[in-house]
Amino acid sequence: MAGLPLFERVALIGIGLIGSSVARMIARERLAGHVAASARTKATLEKVTALGIVDSVHDDPASAAAGADLVVICAHLGAYAEIGAAIAPHLSPGAILTDVGSVKQAVIEYLAPHVPGGVHLIPGHPVAGTEHSGPDAGFAELFEDRWCILTPPPDSDEAALEKLSTFWRRAGMKVEVMEPRHHDLVLAITSHLPHLIAYNIVGTADDLEAITKSEVIKYAAGGFRDFTRIAASDPVMWRDVFLNNREAVLEILGRFTEDLTALQRAIRWGDGAALESLFTRTRAIRKGIIEAGQA
Ligand code: NAP
Repeated sequence: MAGLPLFERVALIGIGLIGSSVARMIARERLAGHVAASARTKATLEKVTALGIVDSVHDDPASAAAGADLVVICAHLGAYAEIGAAIAPHLSPGAILTDVGSVKQAVIEYLAPHVPGGVHLIPGHPVAGTEHSGPDAGFAELFEDRWCILTPPPDSDEAALEKLSTFWRRAGMKVEVMEPRHHDLVLAITSHLPHLIAYNIVGTADDLEAITKSEVIKYAAGGFRDFTRIAASDPVMWRDVFLNNREAVLEILGRFTEDLTALQRAIRWGDGAALESLFTRTRAIRKGIIEAGQA
């Protein structure tokens, strides 16, 4: 029916960068009759109240989730098990329980054992973000033209999946359904490894005794500067990503170090052709990303 919101009550468990962006997007699109949010600290709850981006704030995830027809967990992965246990007895029959976590197989293992019958667990990952965190950092347009990957269990309710897909499409996202372990492997190479490399290179530069920290900052050229932006990402969030996607990250890291050794060898032996061939191939990848509108 025209004019009715998609959901009566949406609960956002955790309201930092992603949760507050979701809240702002819901307000813009008028997707919910009521938005309830919970966070861990009083400071965040007060900040969210001052921003005026939700209808109610709760220091207890269970009271935010009670009566909601959509519950979106937007907290760090390390908090999922505790949140799942706390909200499970309060989930309404027919409700959709989803999340925005950057890893998907671990999320299913944390949440599935708690989910009562009649509640639709459909984990998700809006692949959109910045290096900032907290509710001040969010904005409704964060999701525009990005991909949202949903990883529903095989026997998922079609109508619930379609409703959640509509929610993310209204955020401006393109929605794809994927098997959770495949998601974790794809994201290990496209997001998790690049973050690990950035953390590592900035750490290496910081440890170099022959070059002072002031020189690293003063002469930061394009390449290093871009790494420092990524390496400024939230330490707790990224700690949890690596702890919860261990297998896929180690698999990709093994291949990466092999390829790095090949490059090391090419430099040592003056094999310019090998270097140029790789750099030409990678330039084409960049062109493909720009053409796909994901730059
Ligand atoms: P964030 O800005 O640091 O916000 C995290 C929120 O979770 C905060 O509001 C925090 O509350 C809350 N929280 C922590 N423990 C909680 C608990 N036990 N109960 C209720 N709330 C709790 O983090 P974010 O960047 O939005 O990331 C949130 C999730 O999105 C993560 O799982 C991450 O993997 C995923 N993600 C992030 C990005 C990105 O680029 N940042 C992109 C896609 C997906 P307090 O402020 O009170 O501590």
